[in-house]
Amino acid sequence: MTALDDILTGYEALRPAQEAFYQDLHAHPELSHQEHDTARRVAGHLQGDGFAVTTGIGGTGVVGVLANGSGPAVLLRAELDALPLREATGAPFASTVTTTDASGMEVGVDHACGHDLHMAAMTGMAALLAGHRDRWHGTLITLFQPAEETGEGAQDMVDDGLFKKIPVPDVALAQHLLPGIAGTVRTRSGPFMSAADSLEVTVYGRGGHGSTPQSTVDPVVLAAMIIIRLQTIVSREVAPGDIAVVTVGSCHAGTRSNVIPDHAVLELNLRSYSAATRQRMLEAVQRIVRAECQASGSPKDPEFKTTLTFPVTSNDPAVTDRVAQAFAAHFGDNADEIPRQTVSEDFSKIPDAAGVPYTYWGLGYTDRDTYLAAEKAGHLEDLTSNHSPKFLPPMQPCLRTGTEALLAAALAWLAP
Ligand SMILES: [Zn+2]
Ligand SMILES: [Zn+2]
Repeated sequence: MTALDDILTGYEALRPAQEAFYQDLHAHPELSHQEHDTARRVAGHLQGDGFAVTTGIGGTGVVGVLANGSGPAVLLRAELDALPLREATGAPFASTVTTTDASGMEVGVDHACGHDLHMAAMTGMAALLAGHRDRWHGTLITLFQPAEETGEGAQDMVDDGLFKKIPVPDVALAQHLLPGIAGTVRTRSGPFMSAADSLEVTVYGRGGHGSTPQSTVDPVVLAAMIIIRLQTIVSREVAPGDIAVVTVGSCHAGTRSNVIPDHAVLELNLRSYSAATRQRMLEAVQRIVRAECQASGSPKDPEFKTTLTFPVTSNDPAVTDRVAQAFAAHFGDNADEIPRQTVSEDFSKIPDAAGVPYTYWGLGYTDRDTYLAAEKAGHLEDLTSNHSPKFLPPMQPCLRTGTEALLAAALAWLAP
C-alpha cells in the first residue's frame, strides 16, 4: 500500500470532526487583519497534533512545524480571512456575523472565497500526517496567512521575519477553490494567475466659474484625455499575444455643472502575466499621466498612490510536474490541467522571499451535473463563483478532495 493510501485509511475516523470544524469556521468568519479567533482555533488544532506553533506572525499569521527526521521541508499555505459580504446561501451554518470595517461601515462577514475549507483541509492533513509519522520523513510546515483578500498578509508575514522564525522550506505549495467540477484537482505550469495593481491617481487643475474656462485649468478635460490615452498602453505598447488589462474603474471630479473643479481622482486596475509587462505598464501610466498634465498646463504634479498590489503567480515547472504526477496517480481522471486565471494572489510573496520554487493548484467547487449542464448550455459564467454571497462549495467531496490533494502533494516530497 502506498503511504498516501495507508494514511488515508484514517480519514473516515477524522471526517466528522473535520466537517464540524469547517462549519464552525464558516459560521464565524473574520475580516482581513481581524482573524484573531480563527488564528487561535487553528493554532489549537496544530498544538493538539504535536506541531511547534508560532502565532502572531505579521498580525495574526500562524505557522505549525512538525519535524520528523531528515528529509525535505515542505511548506503548505492556507488563508485565515473572510470577505465583507452578507451571506445569502441559506445554509444551516450560514454566517450571520456583522462587523465594522476599516472605514467605519457596518458590513456582513462571509467566507465567500473558501478559506474556511482550505483551513479545515489543512488541519485535517496535518492531523493525518501527525498520526502516521512512520510513513514519511522530513519537515512539514503548515502556514496560515492573514489578509489574503487584501493582498497584504503574505508580505506582512515576510516583513515580520517569517524565515527567522520558521525553517526555510525546499518547496512551497498552495491550493484554492477555483471554478471547476467539485472533486477535481487541476494544475498548471508557468504563469497561472495575473499580477494586479490598483492605483489612485490625483491630477490637479485650477478651479473657477464654468462660464470662464479661459481662466481655469479644467481637470475634467484632463482626466478624460488621460483615460483615452491610457487605452493605448494595451493596444500600442504591449505585444499582441501578451495578456494585459488596463481598466479605469472610477473617475471623480467636480460637484455641479457651472463649477470647474480643481482636481480629479482616477482609480486604475492593471493586470499582467509577466514582470516585464507589468513594469512597462506601470511606467507607461506614469509617463502618460505626467505628459497629459503638462499638456493641460496643470499647476501641480500629479500624485500616484498604490492601493493594492498582487504579484504574478508563476508555477515552477518541475514542482508542478511532480505534483501533477502525484495527482494523476491518486485522482485519475479527476486530475487535469487548469486554464490561466485572471484573478490574483499574494501567496507567491512567501516562496519568492525565500527563493523557493512553488506551485498553486485549483480545486473545483461546482456540483458535477450542474457544471456539465451549464457547460453544455454555454452558460458557465452564470454559475456561482468565489466572492458571491451565494458561494458555498458542496462540503463533500470538496473537503475530502482538498485534504487528499494536500496529502498527495506533500508526500511527493516527504514519502517519494
Ligand atoms: Zn482566496
Ligand atoms: Zn478571495
